[in-house]
Amino acid sequence: MLNTDRHPCFNVAVKGDCGRVHLPVAPKCNIMCNYCNRKYDCVNESRPGVTSAVLKPKQAIAYLAKVLEKEPRITVAGIAGPGDPFANAAETLETVRLIRAQFPDLLLCLATNGLGLPPYLDELAALQVSHVTLTVNAVDPEIGAKIYSWVRDGKVIYRGVAAAEVLLKRQLESIRGLKARGITVKVNTIIIPGINDHHVQAVAAKMAELGVDILNCMPMYPNAETPFGDVPEPLPEQMTAIRREAEKLIPQMHHCTRCRADAVGLLEDDRTDDFRGCLSACAHAVPAPVDRPYVAVATQEGVLVNLHLGEAPGFQIWGPKDGGFERLEARPAPPPGGGADRWWALAETLKDCRAALVSGIGDTPQAILSEAGVEPVVMHGFIEMALTAIYGDGDLSALKGRRSGVAGGCCNKKSGEGCM
Ligand code: SF4
Ligand code: SF4
Repeated sequence: MLNTDRHPCFNVAVKGDCGRVHLPVAPKCNIMCNYCNRKYDCVNESRPGVTSAVLKPKQAIAYLAKVLEKEPRITVAGIAGPGDPFANAAETLETVRLIRAQFPDLLLCLATNGLGLPPYLDELAALQVSHVTLTVNAVDPEIGAKIYSWVRDGKVIYRGVAAAEVLLKRQLESIRGLKARGITVKVNTIIIPGINDHHVQAVAAKMAELGVDILNCMPMYPNAETPFGDVPEPLPEQMTAIRREAEKLIPQMHHCTRCRADAVGLLEDDRTDDFRGCLSACAHAVPAPVDRPYVAVATQEGVLVNLHLGEAPGFQIWGPKDGGFERLEARPAPPPGGGADRWWALAETLKDCRAALVSGIGDTPQAILSEAGVEPVVMHGFIEMALTAIYGDGDLSALKGRRSGVAGGCCNKKSGEGCM
């Protein structure tokens, strides 16, 4: 049975004993708030939307294990962006599933705008997600229309009042669904002077009616290069007055620290800086699944990684031996043509490999191999160096820096058929 009292954001009494770690696995967003600016690399800013790196789900689990080892006071794993968890639903749910399986005592917490949440209500409950934060800035679409530039629902993009109506409808549906499933709900309301600062009582009243557990009125942080970049931050006395009025309707959070999307530690003993190197290493690491002992290599002569995936007639299969590495066998690649089927066939050929070392790769095979569990590593250099990193700490950042060609794309223009 989870002890849901051990969440420092929802229970101020434990904020000196219990900490949280945010896993930045959700880079995309499905709406555009006029105050949002997501910078991944800014180490000096502490606010939502900022992270030093983005992790894939398995990388997030490896990172979480390291964090828990060094900071055992962590009781909550949260996903709070840097975009929205449900604009990256596959990554979010895979991460949540892996956490629940491997760290059954951890509390799970998500922070979302709510637009994409409703289809996942039952799964969140089944996975024992205990705490969800929704950001609700308005319960009047006319006011919401001033806050959101657009809202993307599937392939449809809404603007203006229609955008705010769609978002509000989903937010209310999300909150009702979460409360019906016994999940603790916090609502963040970003206070934007001249836009919604006169509207907070209406938000508080609606949230109280829905059974929301706590309201967190947060002063807007004016981000440069955003439509609200010149709107001044609300004054502390204005925030105090707003919270005092809202508190008559719904309990208030007074200890929010406006966490980054990669925040780690206790709210009053933040350790995000201490773990920045660890986060970066995990973001470049190839996770080490036990059922994938080998590494596939695209090479001409068996010393260097020097073949593009689409041009490699076959792959050498390497594995560890006696403190070093040995080439075990060679496997032919599926013949060119066939579109995506060719890459699924290759994934099957390499199903016992955790990584494929190549000098270049197209977007489609990259996505398919990653999905199948064979992590493509685009690099130039010695095979042994890459294997040392993969079977060591898993940090390939130095080797990936040696890549050439179009980053992340297909640089094979010679044959014209490389990644087809
Ligand atoms: Fe959850 Fe927000 Fe607290 Fe992170 S800061 S643990 S997302 S409530
Ligand atoms: Fe940015 Fe969050 Fe708004 Fe998305 S929901 S635009 S990530 S503030």
